[in-house]
Amino acid sequence: MDKLEDSQHSNLQEIEQEAFREIGGAKSLDSLESLSTKYLGRKGILTAFLRNIPKLPVEARPSAGKNANLLKLRLEEVFNRLKAEIESNFDSSDQIDVTLPGRAFTRGTLHPVTKISREIISIFTRIGFEIAEGPEVETDYYNFEALNIPKYHPARDMQDTFYVAENIVLRTHTSPTQPRVMQKVNPPVRIIAPGKVYRCDSDVTHTPMFHQVEGLMVDQDVSFGDLKGTLTTFIHKLFDEDISLRFRPSFFPFTEPSAEVDIRCVMCRGKGCRVCSGTGWLEVLGAGMVHPAVFENVGYDTEKYTGFAFGMGIERLAMLKYGIDDLRKFFENDMRFLRQF
Ligand SMILES: [Zn+2]
Repeated sequence: MDKLEDSQHSNLQEIEQEAFREIGGAKSLDSLESLSTKYLGRKGILTAFLRNIPKLPVEARPSAGKNANLLKLRLEEVFNRLKAEIESNFDSSDQIDVTLPGRAFTRGTLHPVTKISREIISIFTRIGFEIAEGPEVETDYYNFEALNIPKYHPARDMQDTFYVAENIVLRTHTSPTQPRVMQKVNPPVRIIAPGKVYRCDSDVTHTPMFHQVEGLMVDQDVSFGDLKGTLTTFIHKLFDEDISLRFRPSFFPFTEPSAEVDIRCVMCRGKGCRVCSGTGWLEVLGAGMVHPAVFENVGYDTEKYTGFAFGMGIERLAMLKYGIDDLRKFFENDMRFLRQF
């Protein structure tokens, strides 16, 4: 080894010793970073040494280059290992940066059916109605017989009703809550009964399960005018505007007279559009005066009491209120859809 090569060699040894001495004293990520820059950075000590190699005598270059590159690799390895160690021991409790924005919680949203159900309940409870509930697995008697729907009625067709067993059905409407409540209490009765109902039906406008709200008011001198007033108040509150209502004569076995209730189309305001099939009106619920046969079934005095009942589909109202065009969206649980509410 000649003198010049020897001096380069000792020079590299000095760099190595100094580097490891300094690394040994480094306590933080910052000091490691600055040491890494000091030795390996673009203007670092070892980088400068490597850059100088072409200026060395030809015979000194290979060993100087080899040793310097080996040192570079060792230093890189040591820096990476120490940085990883420090990061894994990082104790956030004494390193909190109070200027950072907080982490936002991902909050759930109410399902549109839940949301509108709560609104409907809130409107009716404010005008004196109480909430009643009935079973979803219902007897034939309460689902049909007590509501004046005899054996031969088309509503009892197997295509519409899920039969669990003979005389046991999944309720096809919330109406069985009416006789169930009336059997237990004497008038005055003022209840709403929200809940799930089931029909053997599935297409764009029908799902096998959907939600209804039933309403019932029984007292002395309850008139069709009371029914109209109650439903008008309800619709105005639900849609936050004085929408016109239209009562069309209809037929239900458990009410007489019966009416189907339309509201002026909320999409086109009565001009006629796709949603209202050009009629300017949307059917939203069925209603009527409680049929005397129903009162007789629960032992109410038909000479003394009158009452009205109504039923509506919750999804239908949610579609109109929130502008939803496909009933099936309520049950697909697509988060992009549900987060809008
Ligand atoms: Zn319309």
